[in-house]
Amino acid sequence: MIEALEPVDIIFFGAHPDDIELSCGGTIAKSVADGLRVGIIELTRGELGTRGTPKIRRREALAAMRILGARFREQLDFGDGNIRTGREEELQIIEIVRTCKPKVVFTMWPDDRHPDHIRTGRIVTEASWYAGLRSLETGLPHHRPQVTIYYPQNYLVTPSFVVDVTKTWKTKQRAIAAFKSQFYDPKSKEPPSFIADKKFLEMIEARGRHFGALIGVEYGEAFMTKQPPKVDDVIAAYAGREP
Ligand SMILES: [Zn+2]
Repeated sequence: MIEALEPVDIIFFGAHPDDIELSCGGTIAKSVADGLRVGIIELTRGELGTRGTPKIRRREALAAMRILGARFREQLDFGDGNIRTGREEELQIIEIVRTCKPKVVFTMWPDDRHPDHIRTGRIVTEASWYAGLRSLETGLPHHRPQVTIYYPQNYLVTPSFVVDVTKTWKTKQRAIAAFKSQFYDPKSKEPPSFIADKKFLEMIEARGRHFGALIGVEYGEAFMTKQPPKVDDVIAAYAGREP
């Protein structure tokens, strides 16, 4: 069992260190600012990355966690480049969900570009549901989160909702910058990669502005759900906007 785990309101799951920052960094920082307890779990150590080593990436991931204000960040070892999704792996996630009792779980959109992202989306969805089965005995009380929310990474999907992250966009940028081995660094001697190109961070910026524009704010992060969220105040939800 992972020792650092503690009860939280939300858990963000990703395949590789930095996946979560790119798509949810602003939402994590906002949730923490709103007083929620947040935990982060990666399913791999990112050992197949073009740049950096698992040790460097772990150090960077912990620095990013502190910037975002999460309570813990743990890495599982399901295998980068071929994430295993058997019963053993499923039970590890069930144990995390039952230990941390999150109200909400975020994971990767299970139809994304990278097969590891697809598998992450799928196993987290299924394990979060199985965690609520009373008769599935693991030594921990059953717990089922209210919802599994998906974040996009490479492919564009119509969002179910967009979170206003204007106030925490700079924090997100700092958290991404903590992954020094992965992203644009003109002094780096590491091999070039898709995400280390300067254009990649410009794309993240543009995407944040695009999602923000959809809800009439400066920066937004988009999410998908299988069921729509409940809206209490339609006028407030569309305040200051025009069709
Ligand atoms: Zn990834």
